[in-house]
Amino acid sequence: MQAAQRGEADALEALITRYQPRVFRFSLKMCRNVDDAGDIVQETLLALARKIGAFRGDASVSTWLFAIARNACIRRRRRGKFAPPREESLERLEAGLRDRIADPGAGPEQTTLSHEIEQRVTLAIDALDAGQREVLVLRDVEGLTAPEVAEVLGIRVDAVKSRLHRARVAVRARLAPALSAPVTAPGAGCPDVLALYSRHLEGDIAADVCQEMEAHLAQCTSCLAACDSLRRSVALCQAAPPGPVPDAVASAVRTAVHAAIEEMRRGAPSAG
Ligand SMILES: [Zn+2]
Repeated sequence: MQAAQRGEADALEALITRYQPRVFRFSLKMCRNVDDAGDIVQETLLALARKIGAFRGDASVSTWLFAIARNACIRRRRRGKFAPPREESLERLEAGLRDRIADPGAGPEQTTLSHEIEQRVTLAIDALDAGQREVLVLRDVEGLTAPEVAEVLGIRVDAVKSRLHRARVAVRARLAPALSAPVTAPGAGCPDVLALYSRHLEGDIAADVCQEMEAHLAQCTSCLAACDSLRRSVALCQAAPPGPVPDAVASAVRTAVHAAIEEMRRGAPSAG
């Protein structure tokens, strides 16, 4: 980081290579279009190369990168207003991803997550509305803290959390068959255990509420199973590795960053 800030090109390139997979994954989840995601990665990392001197630490870099990528995605969505609507079905999107990105299970950091489960997690997240999706992706997939997510989105922390709880419950519902979670309905006297459990994961329920819930779970198997499936569903979102960045995207980024470095060396005013 410091070497990159001193203007060492190799360090800057290493930094860009490090952030690239996460920025690509985030952009893909936000735009749900591989071509747009590629353009956004390039735009975002180019901005990083130009503004590297302004950062104080890793946390500020990732928060900033996600905010830049998100804004680029929103701009693109607006610009596409008069273009034919891109109603890509999830199935088509899935097929497109399979064709264009190499099998993520082939890398050295192979996880125990099966490819099929991975696809299901992707589809469950894609099915969320945009507001819930960006919160869940930043918090559970990218691992930002709730205050960092609030900073990226420019909203309050409690708004982040209420969207997060709804998003987690929706993703769990879609993954439930794959998690072989029993579908027994909660009883008439059952509390809203999924929302409570999600708040518990955020460290946001008081000790007495927690105790009440534990007492309920000790005697209610359907709520216990529901909480367990939510825990596993969140864990699956957290475990999904960033897939490989398509070669065409990586090489376009490399070319653009090299050009930017040359430009900065010559002292030419940057184009922003
Ligand atoms: Zn219950």
